[in-house]
Amino acid sequence: MYGLGILSGMVVTLKNFFRKPFTVSYPEQRLPQHPRFRGEEFTWYEERCTGCASCAKFCPLGIIRIVTHPGGTTPAEGDSYAIDVFDIDIARCMFCGLCVEACPYDALFMGSGFEEAKYRRRDLVISVERLRAAEKRPSTWYRPQLEGQAYDPRRDGSLPWQKAGREPWPYHLPQRPQAEGEKTTGEGTP
Ligand code: SF4
Ligand code: SF4
Repeated sequence: MYGLGILSGMVVTLKNFFRKPFTVSYPEQRLPQHPRFRGEEFTWYEERCTGCASCAKFCPLGIIRIVTHPGGTTPAEGDSYAIDVFDIDIARCMFCGLCVEACPYDALFMGSGFEEAKYRRRDLVISVERLRAAEKRPSTWYRPQLEGQAYDPRRDGSLPWQKAGREPWPYHLPQRPQAEGEKTTGEGTP
């Protein structure tokens, strides 16, 4: 009886010995990510942001801090607030994406990254400076317009703000005189 048990155990061992591995040697090797991956670094387009703070209000953990002042940049569009502070504390983030869902202007997107190691918790707060300077690789999660253009953040790289939203609203561009007969929606006006 004992011999049979050892034999069946050896068969299992032999089967697995010749099976193709399904794990990879991270970080040298990486599995491909889905374009809808809800990554940790967030993508924020200041050009599209009105400072409405809907994202902060909808965050169940209250980890987005926004400070604004009256912008006066685009009165023709309905005006917007200028952003002084836009901090996201990803040390407490659960990547639910509700902040992205709440953004009415397609200004906030989940990111595409997943590697964020710091020695201090406070270094995990993404500041407005970092959001401004970051390469724009938005996740396509909750953004059907990106999937409509077959955008893939890992493959296609940086996406300009004009292509990120359903409408090209230039809320934070400097004010300019409007030509006669020009649309007030700001369509395609960088
Ligand atoms: S992903 Fe969720 S927890 Fe993280 S900032 Fe957005 S709403 Fe808050
Ligand atoms: S990112 Fe969106 S929801 Fe948040 S303040 Fe800007 S426009 Fe409002």
